[in-house]
Amino acid sequence: METDDEEAERAASILLRSFLMAIALTACIKPEKGKSFTFQPTVEETKDPATVTEKPPPKKKKKKVYLTFDDGPNKGTMKVLHIIQQEQVPVSFFLIGEHAEASAMQQAAMDSLEQCELAELCNHSYTHAWHNQFSKFYEYADSVVKDFEKCRDSLQLQNNIVRTPGRNIWRTDSVIATDIKRSAVAADSVFQAGFNVMGWDLEWHYDGKDLSLKNNADSLLNQLDSAFAKGKTKTPDHLVLLAHDQVYEDAADSTELHYFIRKIKERDLELEVVSRYPNLRKQ
Ligand SMILES: [Zn+2]
Repeated sequence: METDDEEAERAASILLRSFLMAIALTACIKPEKGKSFTFQPTVEETKDPATVTEKPPPKKKKKKVYLTFDDGPNKGTMKVLHIIQQEQVPVSFFLIGEHAEASAMQQAAMDSLEQCELAELCNHSYTHAWHNQFSKFYEYADSVVKDFEKCRDSLQLQNNIVRTPGRNIWRTDSVIATDIKRSAVAADSVFQAGFNVMGWDLEWHYDGKDLSLKNNADSLLNQLDSAFAKGKTKTPDHLVLLAHDQVYEDAADSTELHYFIRKIKERDLELEVVSRYPNLRKQ
């Protein structure tokens, strides 16, 4: 049995050990010299709500308009070039091989097209379907392919995008459409030969007799809005617009074109060259 003295000594020892342990614990959490020991909130908690900047939502992609001009080089080509240079917008020209060497004026226009960085040059065949003999032309698939190859080689075109004369035909990796079915075999052959065939979603119509525009720029803009809104383009949010160089030789019509381009720039739309159209077959 323990004596009272032994018991007291034991109690004192326990007390001393407890005291020493408390000192040791205090030493472990001692703050650095000169620093007060206060509760440190986490990084998130230190942010002042007023200064927190939310990540901006991803930018909404602009709808694309591909403005294309057919049948050049021709009367009106220089007017179009002048306008796109003034407005610094990219457009595409579907050119006819024969036209480039038909006259001194057309040769000069071709030189200007080649020098203009905003102009993308594409293929509208060499003979324009044997000078508009459309039905006959599309009966001979091999000959159609050769006509496009001749245009490509004579104009030294840098891309593989063609537009069929007199036909709204599409052959890309994602769009296949043929307006007049009898031309389908020829169109397939052109695609198999390595070309993309690009038609159009909307045309700026003109009168074939006096080459004047049938509708003004505001009316065309309404048609364009409607085509986007109703999903009537071959690819959603991408619209290919067909126009013709020769119409814009006329001062009033070139003013309409200039106004149209300015309006496009003001809107939430972006002009783009056809080689940037989605899902084209690579060269
Ligand atoms: Zn044409």
